[in-house]
Amino acid sequence: MRSISILGATGSVGEQTLDLVRRNPAEWNVVALTANSNVAALAASAREFGAQVAVVADESRLGELRDALAGSGIEAAAGRGALCEAASRPVDMTVAAIVGCAGLGPVMAAIEQGGTIALANKEALVSAGEVMTAAVARHGATLLPVDSEHNAIFQCLAGGRIEDVRSITLTASGGPLRTVDDLSAVTPEQAIAHPNWDMGAKISVDSATMFNKGLELIEAHHLFPVGLDRIRIVVHPQSVIHSMVEYRDGSTLAQLGPSDMRVPIASCLAWPARMDTPMAPLDLPAIGEMSFFAPDETRFPATRLAREAAEAGGAAPAVLNAANEIAVAAFLDRKIAFSRIAVVVEDVLNQGELPEAPRTLEDVLRVDEDARSRATRILEPA
Ligand code: NDP
Repeated sequence: MRSISILGATGSVGEQTLDLVRRNPAEWNVVALTANSNVAALAASAREFGAQVAVVADESRLGELRDALAGSGIEAAAGRGALCEAASRPVDMTVAAIVGCAGLGPVMAAIEQGGTIALANKEALVSAGEVMTAAVARHGATLLPVDSEHNAIFQCLAGGRIEDVRSITLTASGGPLRTVDDLSAVTPEQAIAHPNWDMGAKISVDSATMFNKGLELIEAHHLFPVGLDRIRIVVHPQSVIHSMVEYRDGSTLAQLGPSDMRVPIASCLAWPARMDTPMAPLDLPAIGEMSFFAPDETRFPATRLAREAAEAGGAAPAVLNAANEIAVAAFLDRKIAFSRIAVVVEDVLNQGELPEAPRTLEDVLRVDEDARSRATRILEPA
């Protein structure tokens, strides 16, 4: 039996992880489950899986959580400190599936335990960059990528040597708006309606703006040290190939599979072995055709902005991420047009000197907070 904690257990990745755990209950001992405010779903899962502790980030919901867990013997806790405390309980596997930089503190707490972290929370790695990868090395932790593209690359690299890699290609579906003419009139409902994947609201908007691919470019740069100039992006609307690795002898390895996050999550849960999932076999004749296009960075500038931030390094990726989180939240609240998201991010990145390169978790959180304030000020009506 292995122990597991799921940070962000009530979200899309969290629920899909629990679905896999549910299929193999004898294999897992659930330690911590966390949520932001969805007490009902958190308590239901904590009871179903017999978790040791359930944590809700929103402190005002603690009473509700205690009531929902009454008589179960499961500890209830709330607040950011409690999230980090729960994440620091030693486990074999932590699934990091909180959305946004809010997940960074708990991920770092998990890394300090030196276990295996299955990382979905890409914003945490984008913001913390070398601060996180250095902590992984220092504490002897193992970082496994849940993001389907990075998981695909990870699989294609198995048995290969990073110095033999000529290039890495991240595939992108292009999102629901690839062929939509007027991006200024796009509603949150349209932006969230992803053609291939069923995901949380924030990453769905990121897929529509292509910031998701931009964040993934920075994520790949930290996970796979081949050099930024060797990481490419190609639009592949069918989302059958999840990414590719080209070696110096001209061989390109690709990982294919259904657009279902349970595949990469299962790859992390079972790594280095394999486990069953309920996926139907890949039916290539039914898929018929696969197509590939270069990204259109004039209509979707996010990948250009992310590449520039990655090249600048230091605080730039954390600033880009924070500004994007604020702009996406404003778009989802119908306060700004879809087409303004990238404009806000670029404005924040170009506003004055960038802060110094963060060296510690506290530095990263300061950069994040400062960029959020700047983005919020830009969004305030004059
Ligand atoms: P969801 O929005 O579906 O879920 C987010 C989870 O994080 C929920 O459990 C939510 O709790 C919790 N949460 C939200 N805000 C906070 C906060 N401030 N503090 C603590 N917990 C918080 O997101 P997804 O599952 O879609 O995405 C999670 C991460 O995985 C993201 O980083 C995303 O980019 C990445 N990812 C997701 C994929 C997908 O298919 N969904 C694919 C690849 C990567 P509550 O329910 O209470 O709000």
